[in-house]
Amino acid sequence: MDIAVIGSNMVDLISYIDRMPKEGETLEAPDFEIGCGGKGANQAVAAAKMGSDVMMVTKVGDDLFADNTILNLEKYGIDTEFAVNVPGTSSGVAPIFVDPESKNRILIIKGANKHLKPEDVDQASEKLKQCSSIVLQLEVPLETVYRSIEFGNEHKIPVILNPAPATKDLDFDYVCKSDYFIPNESELEILTDMPVETEDQIAEAARSLVHKGVKNVIVTMGSRGVMWVTKESIQTVPSHTVNAVDTTGAGDAFIGCFAHFLVKDGNVLEAMKMASAFAALSVTMRGTQTSYPQASELENFLS
Ligand code: ADP
Repeated sequence: MDIAVIGSNMVDLISYIDRMPKEGETLEAPDFEIGCGGKGANQAVAAAKMGSDVMMVTKVGDDLFADNTILNLEKYGIDTEFAVNVPGTSSGVAPIFVDPESKNRILIIKGANKHLKPEDVDQASEKLKQCSSIVLQLEVPLETVYRSIEFGNEHKIPVILNPAPATKDLDFDYVCKSDYFIPNESELEILTDMPVETEDQIAEAARSLVHKGVKNVIVTMGSRGVMWVTKESIQTVPSHTVNAVDTTGAGDAFIGCFAHFLVKDGNVLEAMKMASAFAALSVTMRGTQTSYPQASELENFLS
């Protein structure tokens, strides 16, 4: 096993609407789509599409979305032995309303994701021990994220921590125990209380985390690229110029692909470059997991 993603899955329920209904009103909408998402699942799919052997430790409900979620992960070759049903609970779902101007209104119901517990990490320990990297986000309880970081440290497995969605409750002692801390600009702003408008400000905010003891801070900056800050240096990889159609899930694309290349040869800068190209390609198509390229498409893009 190359990569273990311990985290969330969600089902996106996307309604394309002319307008939001008023209170008490029933309104017909032109279109509807179901998509598989959740930051954990997206990152797992991105790594699997690149060719990594990926396992997920995650929880689904006991509704019709549960089977769909597991089948979807398996379609990408992801190991689902530890994708477990929670009786009497809904799966994680995200009703999304998209208006004619492509503006989104999104609700998140975490459902079974709230039931991913530290014990679930220990239950998967025999398989987790064989992984070369652990990938984490914050859509599951923080205690589970902390236990996963400890597990990685105990077994000398590098931990990639994506602090999304950002919360000030995140305990910095654990952040310092992760190996690669990868926020986007707005998450960095929330976590540091520092401005992040210019690249100098982003560097300053990232450096403040390094001063607190975080080993590697890698900030994704949308179309501006990616910045890697350590005690010794600051290095930036520019983004590829593409026709951006839908940037949903770009950060997850970056993380999954970064994990893949980090495990493959351990070269951080190279992994950032490949992940930037992978994420850039993903924004040229609508959708989340379905917009992630295959390894061959990434190769063609870079050749
Ligand atoms: P998030 O999806 O978490 O907001 P970002 O917007 O920072 O994350 O995007 C993650 C990565 O995706 C960026 O670092 C960049 O490599 C790539 N990316 C995002 N938007 C674009 C864009 N418009 N053009 C090219 N690459 C992009």
